[in-house]
Amino acid sequence: MVQQIQKIVIVGGGTAGWMAAAALSKFFESRKISIQLVESDDIGTVGVGEATVPGIHQFNRYLDISELDFIKATQATFKLGIEFKDWFKQEHTFFHPFADYGLPINGVNFYQCWLKMQKSGYVYDLEDFCLATQIAKQRRFAQVDHDLETPLALYNYAYHFDASLYAKFLRNYAEQRGVIRQQGKIVSVAQNSSTGFIESVTLTDGQVISGQLFIDCSGFAGLLIDKTLKTEYINWSKWLPCDRAIALQTENVEDATPYTSSFALTAGWQWKIPLQHRVGNGYVYSSNVISEDEAIESLLINTSGAKLTSPRVIKFTAGMRKNFFVKNCVALGLASGFLEPLESTSISLIQTGITKLINYFPDMSFDSKKIAEVNRLNEMEYSRVRDFIILHYKANQRNVNDFWKALAAMDVPETLQNKMTAFKKDGTLISYELESFQDASWLSMYNGFKITPEQCIPDANNLDVTKLKQVMEKIKLAIQQGVLHAPTQKEFLSSI
Ligand SMILES: Cc1cc2nc3c(=O)[nH]c(=O)nc-3n(C[C@H](O)[C@H](O)[C@H](O)COP(=O)(O)OP(=O)(O)OC[C@H]3O[C@@H](n4cnc5c(N)ncnc54)[C@H](O)[C@@H]3O)c2cc1C
Repeated sequence: MVQQIQKIVIVGGGTAGWMAAAALSKFFESRKISIQLVESDDIGTVGVGEATVPGIHQFNRYLDISELDFIKATQATFKLGIEFKDWFKQEHTFFHPFADYGLPINGVNFYQCWLKMQKSGYVYDLEDFCLATQIAKQRRFAQVDHDLETPLALYNYAYHFDASLYAKFLRNYAEQRGVIRQQGKIVSVAQNSSTGFIESVTLTDGQVISGQLFIDCSGFAGLLIDKTLKTEYINWSKWLPCDRAIALQTENVEDATPYTSSFALTAGWQWKIPLQHRVGNGYVYSSNVISEDEAIESLLINTSGAKLTSPRVIKFTAGMRKNFFVKNCVALGLASGFLEPLESTSISLIQTGITKLINYFPDMSFDSKKIAEVNRLNEMEYSRVRDFIILHYKANQRNVNDFWKALAAMDVPETLQNKMTAFKKDGTLISYELESFQDASWLSMYNGFKITPEQCIPDANNLDVTKLKQVMEKIKLAIQQGVLHAPTQKEFLSSI
């Protein structure tokens, strides 16, 4: 008879650890299973990771957490997308919304219609055809009204939130469902001498915590997946060369924007993430280009508002573990890999990692086929996100120094090259299995970086330009009017 797992040990109490604890405690609500989480107050958490993608709604819904409770508990603001400044060229700005552009016209997708107009000499700004982008630019926010008949009014959104408050909130949730928290530093890990499976971890005070399934959420330390199981790390820094971040929290000096700001700098880029009670800032850069002191100086120049923390340096290498699930250990969060925070994807990858663990939850036989499938899916998902992020660097025409010029000239992974080639030809958007970013996101990048296809597809070519013009003007006007119905984000937050 198949023997079920009775005891799970989660190592680490950062965002990954508490998300895993909350989700597993919910999943096993009706089955008796013991979940213990070990975290060290002395080591603490990475303390960054405050912008998300829309998938977070599903996670909170799965846990039955109401949006209002979440916003209150984490000082959250809304995120309609990301503004990219100076990425294409200095003084150029574009927006990546969590939303589509326009509507199909005569059965032809909107982008192709837009392209047809461009090719016919009518210059329209693609961003004028996205309601979310226009709402964001005016610092407004409204929840989507699903009763409205026009798909033009449909868009998605995510949040900016205080990650440590979210972990606290999830801790409370998980503890109420029976998760046992153990504070203490792990000093050794015991493995079975014949199988290499992890059997227990030992804390500084000598306490031994044993388990059958171990979830490594120990952050960059990779205590189990790396230090113990010696799992290979696939290094992607040849495409994503930034290897440091300086993080700094400041006071709010203006109304929070309903979007994340990202602006390109000499050796990387800076983020600005406005929460209700403060702003998170950070400079992600390559240590081959500037020193730590130079990076700190640059960050301080480019932030406003009184400092609430001292600048903190975080080192990383872009990449992922070759395998996430090894023997009886699953890695989640920073222990499993890190793709730099340009598109705020780490928390979402934790979430999808948890989903895969639940979908393929092992029994005591630790079926190697199930494990291989989890690893295959994770590898694929990470690679898709990797390609999307690489595009941001590859497509730059900043021309300001060797760092940016080399990025523009670099060879990219074949999967990304195929996508770029197909798009440049006739606007075809290739979408592979397990894409985190859908067509509209890729379009926003191509458009933002002024990559225009050589031709449109025949169906678009056959459209009548005069009729297209009429419909496009109508869509644009409807969006302009729609924006006015949304309150400012500040008004919206006060109202809820
Ligand atoms: C610069 C930067 C910016 C980021 N921005 C974003 C963003 O905008 N959006 C996003 O989605 N993600 C972002 N991330 C990623 C995000 O921060 C992480 O994915 C998320 O916080 C999860 O971290 P974690 O729980 O894996 O690790 P951590 O927060 O580091 O937690 C590790 C845990 O392990 C424990 N631990 C470690 N060693 C031991 C030991 N020996 N004994 C006991 N306990 C131990 C620690 O005490 C801690 O509790 C960013 C990351 C960086 C580096």
